[in-house]
Amino acid sequence: MAGKQKPVQVQEPVPLRLTCAFARRMHATPKSFIREILKVTENPDIISFAGGLPNPDLIDVRGIAQAATDVLRDDGRAALQYATTEGYPPLRQYIADRYRTRLGLDVSPEEILITNGSQQCLDLIGKILVDPGDRIVIERPGYLGAIQVFSLYEPVFVPVELEPEGPDPAAFETALAGGDAKLFYGIPNSQNPSGITYSEERRKACVDILAGTRTIVVEDDAYGELRFSGRSPPPLKKYLPDQTILTGSLSKIVAPGMRLGWVCAHLPIMDQLVVAKQASDLHSNFLSQRIASRYLEDTDIDAHIRKIRDAYRKQRDCMIATMQDVMPEGVSWTEPEGGMFIWVTLPPGCSSMEVFTHALREQVAVLPGIPFYIDGGGTDTLRLNFSNADTGRIAEGIERLGQVIRSMTR
Ligand code: PMP
Repeated sequence: MAGKQKPVQVQEPVPLRLTCAFARRMHATPKSFIREILKVTENPDIISFAGGLPNPDLIDVRGIAQAATDVLRDDGRAALQYATTEGYPPLRQYIADRYRTRLGLDVSPEEILITNGSQQCLDLIGKILVDPGDRIVIERPGYLGAIQVFSLYEPVFVPVELEPEGPDPAAFETALAGGDAKLFYGIPNSQNPSGITYSEERRKACVDILAGTRTIVVEDDAYGELRFSGRSPPPLKKYLPDQTILTGSLSKIVAPGMRLGWVCAHLPIMDQLVVAKQASDLHSNFLSQRIASRYLEDTDIDAHIRKIRDAYRKQRDCMIATMQDVMPEGVSWTEPEGGMFIWVTLPPGCSSMEVFTHALREQVAVLPGIPFYIDGGGTDTLRLNFSNADTGRIAEGIERLGQVIRSMTR
């Protein structure tokens, strides 16, 4: 174990002295547990499986620096001006073309809006579609960032159990019965937090249930490019093109700090998204869009993505192999086909919060699964990120974690 280092403590939140009346929507919105935990894990001595950061070695700093230099040299004044809300046309064209070649989706650049990371897509979607009390069907466990952002619009969440193949069809049907759910939000590829990818059959089953309803599908594809082998089944958007809003991101394949994502929706929805985006921030960082666009034009992005996939596949394999060696009986985990996360279920009675506290003493950070459950539960689950640390630190961190869990289950 990591013996002598300073003990690490999670800071209590600073008490609020101000007595102003915050809007009702803020009461319903959970503070990001991840942000709180990430503050603790900023200490470089800690091996962190808690966040969702890409491996920094796989950010092509040199290529991005070259693109930035070229943009500023060739067209600096325009790149530093105000721009249109929809986004830089060549970047929108690039994204539409890539959907066509990669997924066979018939999408025009007019159906792409560039956003400030794909997280902003969820905010804009909430803004244009969700009134207080509207029902949002969401996977259980569900993406924490979606729970947080949609909470601002005061919906009623309807969680549907996520099975290894995708949402439980019977529960999904019940959740949508009555036809008045406003949204279904799901992540069919390498879901955050579980790492689960919906099978083709389960996608079709979901589509059959959704077809003919007025429920809008929000298909979050943040991890679609990070599949380690084979091909992903077709996106829900392929089956339900007008009913589905598809979101994507450059965060996992280029760099999250550029804050670039996009939403792909058919034109009547797009019109409203553009109004909401304009009201919110006029447009996404135009210099960042120009640099990204130049970078994508000048780089063999498929080769770069292959490099990321190869590295993450090895990191996933290392995490799983080490867990097989060190975890006691009764601990189980998912074996994701892509993405960044493994989902761990602890033996009955073993508390993830206690594992979190004990592991932190050993300089290892994990994320308890609790905040991914809207309706309580998940007290015996953990999300482990395998993308950020290299294999040496993964093996070391999982060994320490195994020892912690073994000592708690003896
Ligand atoms: N969707 C999912 C499922 C995610 O995991 C994340 C990042 N954690 C996002 C959206 C937002 O990412 P970004 O804003 O960087 O595109």
